[in-house]
Amino acid sequence: MALDFIDIDGIRRLDALLERCTTLTVTTHTHPDGDALGSASAFVCYLRECRKKDAVGVLCDSPAATVRPIIPDGLPFLFHDTDPQACLDRIAASDLVILLDGNGFSRTEGLQSAFEASPAPKVLIDHHLNPERERFEVVFSTPDISSASELLYYVLLELPDIGGDARRLPAPAARALLTGMTTDTNNFANSVYPSTFRMASDLLAAGVDRDAVLADLYNRYRENRVRVMGYLQYEGMHITPEGLAYMVATRDILDRFEVEDGETEGLVNVPLSIERVKMSILLKQDRDHFRVSIRSKKGWSAQQCATRWFHGGGHENASGGKLFWPDDIAGPAEAAAYLEKVSKECLR
Ligand code: 5GP
Ligand code: MN
Repeated sequence: MALDFIDIDGIRRLDALLERCTTLTVTTHTHPDGDALGSASAFVCYLRECRKKDAVGVLCDSPAATVRPIIPDGLPFLFHDTDPQACLDRIAASDLVILLDGNGFSRTEGLQSAFEASPAPKVLIDHHLNPERERFEVVFSTPDISSASELLYYVLLELPDIGGDARRLPAPAARALLTGMTTDTNNFANSVYPSTFRMASDLLAAGVDRDAVLADLYNRYRENRVRVMGYLQYEGMHITPEGLAYMVATRDILDRFEVEDGETEGLVNVPLSIERVKMSILLKQDRDHFRVSIRSKKGWSAQQCATRWFHGGGHENASGGKLFWPDDIAGPAEAAAYLEKVSKECLR
């Protein structure tokens, strides 16, 4: 039986679109994480293997080395930073576009205008707040789920060729779905619902090797990651009187530890283990801005903080955004003062 967040009329319309279209582009958000890559890979794999479609993943930036292996070998993906013209040509040639794990095309940054200019019908499968429904012919959107990977899993189960049997999913797609759900729940720590355990149970029964998934995700980092995370917790963590913990990974620190993209994933969660901490913010220095990660305990809204103070959004307790200079702050050195102000406003 379909779960209540799966709209059966939407399934019928999705199935009809898939049947009719030949050239499909699957995309997801900038700086793709495990859920973005897991869901996008699983859908490309399903479309190619089960529906025999010309489906390609088109992403606005190359995945970090830490999550790149989530895309199964041989599955076609294009990245706008390394192959801009091929991405634009592909979008222009597509007769269906599917966005996963993002609530609108603004999350595809450099590819936003190409997607918005495309006359092809669009499908959205996402779990963030405030979906841009009007841009899409078919929308599956609920925040009451672990991940885009979980939502896609239940959409795929309803399609006639899968018919509710997870064993009919191609093995690489099943594994990518379990991987995406595992990363977005922080290995079953957050946003876990009865449907999440059901999905995990079904996929294990269908033969996904969870030990291998965990080993690939969590036991293959470089030493740099552990050292910089230790340094930032020991030297770099500040806690305001209101209960905001913040860390600022400046260019100096990132260079000193030779940190690569993706190597601080998960660090922002650590301060929430302290009793008096209500919210945690990690800033990572980029060219003219800090990338911002926010996590909060129940009762405090990371999402409102990201929207109001950092041009961002996301989920109630896990959000992100950006902090620019010279627009938001005079320069990187002013970040700490800005965070002290955010603390007083957000945690009153
Ligand atoms: P993370 O801290 O892991 O980068 O992101 C946490 C959540 O916030 C993710 O669901 C992500 O999609 C969302 N998020 C991160 N950065 C942004 C942003 O700049 N804008 C919006 N709207 N959401 C973001
Ligand atoms: Mn997600």
